[in-house]
Amino acid sequence: MSIRPVKRLIKAKPTIEGAGVHLRRAFGFGDPSEFDPFLLLDDFRNERPEDYLAGFPWHPHRGMETVTYMLHGKIRHEDSLGNKGELRSGDIQWMTAGSGIIHQEMPMQKDGLMRGFQLWVNLPSESKMMQPRYQDITIADVPEVKIDNQATVKVLAGTFKDAHGPVTDVVSKPTYLDIQVEQETEFIYDLPTNDTSMVYVIGGNGYFDGQKKKLVLDDHLVVFGKGEQIKVTTAKEPVRFLLMSGTPINEPVAWHGPIVMNTREELVNAYDELNKGSFIKHEYKV
Ligand code: FE
Repeated sequence: MSIRPVKRLIKAKPTIEGAGVHLRRAFGFGDPSEFDPFLLLDDFRNERPEDYLAGFPWHPHRGMETVTYMLHGKIRHEDSLGNKGELRSGDIQWMTAGSGIIHQEMPMQKDGLMRGFQLWVNLPSESKMMQPRYQDITIADVPEVKIDNQATVKVLAGTFKDAHGPVTDVVSKPTYLDIQVEQETEFIYDLPTNDTSMVYVIGGNGYFDGQKKKLVLDDHLVVFGKGEQIKVTTAKEPVRFLLMSGTPINEPVAWHGPIVMNTREELVNAYDELNKGSFIKHEYKV
């Protein structure tokens, strides 16, 4: 079996989003082909209320999906059709924007630690205008697989061994796992050879090159080259990371802000519809 090499190592960049939220962006808004079918990963781990309180007030999405994974803190989600939901520690919200939603995502706490991640996943052309939907998952529904005393895998989407993630029917069928590998351990995981596979370190540090050459620290993204397996090795510390893997969509991407289409014409049309008030195409309920 071939071990995937590390193709690129990226430190997340400080970025300001929404109404002034200070976050770290692991990837996004560059050349999307390298990350296809994923578009963006934002890391909003923050202890300073002044850095997160502004939240993400009303904004549209079309042609893509957002996946919010909370580790600590509370966020309220609300859309223009009156759907409401709350995300607490360990919860996941997988939102398929499809033809379009207008929503806001606001912190429900005035102080304290906020830790969460938002991943954007692209939709193929035939699904860009699909009916919007939400999958709200609470921590109790996330299966956890323990391998001896060596690793713990939370299955958010896709499968790990016999465990199936609670997020289902995602168009691009991604795998999204939250993995902790204990110290002085080796963890090997098979992934489809042609998937785009990445990990983002969210605690501790470890080696992802199969050779213990380069230690990867917190808030760093590893983009893997092609191969059949990823190999994670730890030394004196455990490492916790998010693993994302999916089949590339291989279509042209026309992207501006929270709207991701295939052509510039579709993008212009989307912003035109927003101005005219005809952006929302489907009535929907959670
Ligand atoms: Fe949003």
